[in-house]
Amino acid sequence: VAKANGKASYQFFRPQLSQNLVIKLNNEQSLREAIDGNEFVLYYQPRVDAASGELRSLEALVRWIHPVRGLIQPDEFIPLAEKTGLIVKLGELVIEKACAQLALWKQQGVPLVPVSVNVSSPQFNQGNFDAIFESHLIEHGIDPSFVEIELTESCMMGEDQAIFSQLAALKSLGVKLLLDDFGTGYSSLSQLQRLDLDILKVDRAFTAKLGESKEGEVFFMAIISMAHVLNMRVVAEGVETVEQLHILQALSCNEIQGYYISRPVPANEIERLMHKRFLFPNDAIPTEING
Ligand code: C2E
Ligand code: MG
Ligand code: MG
Ligand code: MG
Repeated sequence: VAKANGKASYQFFRPQLSQNLVIKLNNEQSLREAIDGNEFVLYYQPRVDAASGELRSLEALVRWIHPVRGLIQPDEFIPLAEKTGLIVKLGELVIEKACAQLALWKQQGVPLVPVSVNVSSPQFNQGNFDAIFESHLIEHGIDPSFVEIELTESCMMGEDQAIFSQLAALKSLGVKLLLDDFGTGYSSLSQLQRLDLDILKVDRAFTAKLGESKEGEVFFMAIISMAHVLNMRVVAEGVETVEQLHILQALSCNEIQGYYISRPVPANEIERLMHKRFLFPNDAIPTEING
């Protein structure tokens, strides 16, 4: 078959080659080597005030710059890192890079906003996460009010006492705590009340429903009123259209994040937005300022 068609013989072997590459890429050893080899960089995505478009924070999102494959998105390696425990080391690398970047921006006179870092459950639950975190802040001279921590509901699944003491330790440092991907897990109202977090980030699956059906709006309305009663601010993730923004403004959602404002971009590109400060595109006419 291969001989009858020269091209076909080539195509016959290609899928196997690329599959080998994928297997190699997805193994624990290559991830470990990438961590030791410092093959990761942080991209940053702005989070803005929903009423004014003013920049409030930057989410640090890790990317793997693979020497052969180039840019690899976190969904392709974070799950493996979590499964193998490598996330503890990788996560510390992320904290280190975020602190170093903040220190550099400060030195360069770039107008600073807080940077939020994502923290996985194995990191959060290692027992001394607060001390590790604090040591990086101190090393780079970072004011704790310039860092935020994004936790997921899976971080809150362990033993109550351990979780509460870890949360309290982080809060006493002065860092803000966010609950990420809200709505996808199992948090109960009473749990939320006890956790005393600062910000709820509603998963983008719910934002995607806005404008499509009343159901999405009703969900946000309930979450926002509950969060405000509990003294939490609400961020909508994954805002992609001006229609979604306008619905969220009408519902008094506090902040938004999403491609409508900006995709995650490298540090040098985000600096331009930090200087610009107000980030609504022209089609978003700001309503009243309720910061
Ligand atoms: P996440 O923390 O919920 O981050 C938001 C994700 O949604 C990002 O994907 C971001 O690029 C994407 N996104 C933002 N706006 C939009 C939008 O308007 N539309 C759509 N379709 N997507 C949007 P990304 O950067 O690929 O990260 C995926 C996930 O990987 C993150 O979800 C987070 O769970 C994890 N992750 C990323 N960086 C880190 C890290 O440093 N540490 C840990 N533990 N996890 C990380
Ligand atoms: Mg996040
Ligand atoms: Mg999220
Ligand atoms: Mg996530």
